[in-house]
Amino acid sequence: MSAANSAEQTQLKGPSGFIEYRGQMLVVDYGRIYLESESYGFLCEDGFLKETSPFFGTKERKQTLWIDELPGCVFRGIDTNGLALELPAAEPGPSGDLVYNNLPFDVVNGRIVTKDHRYVGDLDEAGRVHVRVADSPDFKRLVDEYAQLHTTFVGENAQGEEWEFEYARPLNRRDKTYVDNEIIRYFEDFDKLTGPQKKYVLESLHLWSACGLLQVVRKSEGNCMLGNIKHGAAGVTAVRTGYVTLDRTEFEKEIDLFRRFGTLAVMTSPQKPYLEVRVNLVVAHEFGHQVEFCLSQATQERIREMYEERLKNCNRVHPRPRGYEGYCELLEPQQVAQRFFMSGYARSSHHEYWAECLAAFSIKEGREKLKACDKPVHDLLVELVLKPQNLVSRVVSDSIMSLQSSLHLGGEFHQDILQN
Ligand SMILES: [Zn+2]
Repeated sequence: MSAANSAEQTQLKGPSGFIEYRGQMLVVDYGRIYLESESYGFLCEDGFLKETSPFFGTKERKQTLWIDELPGCVFRGIDTNGLALELPAAEPGPSGDLVYNNLPFDVVNGRIVTKDHRYVGDLDEAGRVHVRVADSPDFKRLVDEYAQLHTTFVGENAQGEEWEFEYARPLNRRDKTYVDNEIIRYFEDFDKLTGPQKKYVLESLHLWSACGLLQVVRKSEGNCMLGNIKHGAAGVTAVRTGYVTLDRTEFEKEIDLFRRFGTLAVMTSPQKPYLEVRVNLVVAHEFGHQVEFCLSQATQERIREMYEERLKNCNRVHPRPRGYEGYCELLEPQQVAQRFFMSGYARSSHHEYWAECLAAFSIKEGREKLKACDKPVHDLLVELVLKPQNLVSRVVSDSIMSLQSSLHLGGEFHQDILQN
């Protein structure tokens, strides 16, 4: 959101439209209610009325009340985000206190509202949550059972009868956040890792867990484990099963390099006097291969084109040294800043290119370096986090949208996630 946009948002405090009540038609302008240019109070987008004139509640002498308490009163217009809004809804709903992922909300006649009177979703009679979103025809997105976070409700149903329920995520540890719980489920035998190993895994995957992709990819492709890989690679992602195995020894080496240098290390190559840049994020790299399996054909094609463009330029400006049999981008010391690939290894194929770029993008410091080195792929990764439905295959598109809506409501996922 730009600065201008957010300034605008703070001004647009309430909805705009019309209120019909007691045979009168009142104008609502950014929340302020008028009848013949006289102020009659303020309407919040969740249906909360404040500073009301006696017109709305003379008998009770109340200055604040819910629109639902006024028989026959209806608002029609748009909310603070410009989405069509009618209050109250045609069908009555439950009312009470909702706690979603430890965040408190009020439920008023089915509407889930924040303590500062934003209308963020609906609670139905089955205890299911529908998040209010712009990109759906009825502005609602159902949070499916895989996406629902810990939920408790205490109140009454639409018929006014007492009603309570609780939903707990399976296999979740109550003392951990959603983000950590998902990483623990993804990384087999997480509890057996050492302190520094745990820290490295949590740091590497935090972004992917918080935006929901880790959960969706794990369900689609499988999880990750430590093992022994014979041919000396740091990790492998099985093409058929999608499971990741990381080599124990190499894993330790990655952690040590990451601790000392951060995302990238510049290593000397056996090919003197050349250098090779290295990304120290093997867990995120292998996860990147799993993500690739979940992308649409069109996205995979885009990545391949980005890679081939880089390869062409790399071959022209930094040709492989005479006698070098490998496929990495090797650089003379003064060429490091002008390299074409984020890491030497990213040159070897479009699959490794993607995995290396995704790995670097996982950490804030790496994201900034990737933006400077390869802006097109950086921007594609930004889109993958913020608008994954544009890039993933249809099979996982609904799950990721449901999950992101749920994580947004539960405060785990924000549009400014990449700033942290
Ligand atoms: Zn790889």
